[in-house]
Amino acid sequence: MLAQRMSLLSGSGTAAAREAAKIAAATGRQIIDLAAGEVIIEPPSSVREGAIAAINAGANRYTDSIGLTPLRGAVAAKLSAETGIGWNTDNIAITAGAKQGLLDVALAVFNPGDEVIIIRPCWPTFPSQVLLAGAKPVFVDVRPPTYTPDIVAIRAAVTPRTKAVIINSPNNPTGAVYDRTTLQAIGDLAINYQLWIVSDESYSSFVFTGSRHESIVMAHPGVRSRTILVNAFSKELAITGWRLGYFAAPPEIVSAAKKLQSHTTSNANVIAQHAILHHLQVGDGSFERKMHERLSDARNNGLRILSGLQDVSSPGADGSFFFYLDLSRLVSALPAGGHLRSTDDIARLLLEEADVGTVAGGTFGDVNGLRLCFGAPPDLLETGLKRVVETLNSLKTRQPA
Ligand code: PLP
Repeated sequence: MLAQRMSLLSGSGTAAAREAAKIAAATGRQIIDLAAGEVIIEPPSSVREGAIAAINAGANRYTDSIGLTPLRGAVAAKLSAETGIGWNTDNIAITAGAKQGLLDVALAVFNPGDEVIIIRPCWPTFPSQVLLAGAKPVFVDVRPPTYTPDIVAIRAAVTPRTKAVIINSPNNPTGAVYDRTTLQAIGDLAINYQLWIVSDESYSSFVFTGSRHESIVMAHPGVRSRTILVNAFSKELAITGWRLGYFAAPPEIVSAAKKLQSHTTSNANVIAQHAILHHLQVGDGSFERKMHERLSDARNNGLRILSGLQDVSSPGADGSFFFYLDLSRLVSALPAGGHLRSTDDIARLLLEEADVGTVAGGTFGDVNGLRLCFGAPPDLLETGLKRVVETLNSLKTRQPA
């Protein structure tokens, strides 16, 4: 008999979508996977060289549970340069991906009975981890086309039990990038109601409109003492499997993570830590520029193809690497009595008929959405998106099965 907390969790919908694509591929079909949340590109040579050097130098032992001190220092320096705000080693914890950093925060900060505001559609790990900590997710829904939160709606969700608000800009799945005014308003609200801000900035390298990513601590420096800024190398360096992330926070939160990680994973993988340290020491930014260029081209090309959709507006895709389609008009125009009634049905059809893996919005708490990753290799992306457009445009005229 499993513990009760397991009933709080449903499996990851994004992992299930990837799994479905893999199963279809195993039957010999050429599946184009636009369900994944990663960019298919060779990681930087500096990371690989750093890993090999670490192995050859015999880097086998445990490290400090929140990471090698030089790596924490290098991350503090990186973040200081990116945000224009000074960060020290004691503000940084190295984690096994952003996911572990977020779980540390949930366990260290949320009490049973606390409420945590989450902007929805959302990456499903946010509410799952809040539940694991015994707290209650309180959702504030955002709408197309901007998917940007309305501060009035967030304020209406605050109660005396509210402990924190979790934000994620650039956003998975919607691609929204919150503007400075929105970030400042969230900052003011957190100060007024004495809330923590958990700001997941895992997609900070991928902003395609405007200038650069703006962290909430840049938009509103006054919130720094109540902000936990979570980030990772997973997406930025295309090393999702290496499992290396970090968070920047007041030292009390870092100390709590040190305790937690000493009883959970001990430390993030030592080879990965050395590899990233090497990259931070010798990298000249060329990989990051190449990656941004590749994704920017993919986004432009993809938006051109998606502009051929009928009954579906073009997505914003201002940041992250997802096209998030609002299928509400299309779903309501589907022939009555047919076997296609929801975005889940449509995602299933795209896999079965067009051989394209996608993620239906239900995974993110939004029955109207469909997420397509534009990190796939460019030729496959182009073919996959054309098939998506062709299939979606054919739906309205199909006879009920
Ligand atoms: N945060 C967001 C918003 C994500 O979308 C993801 C992965 O999809 C993560 C964090 C996980 O990052 P990591 O692989 O570093 O744990």
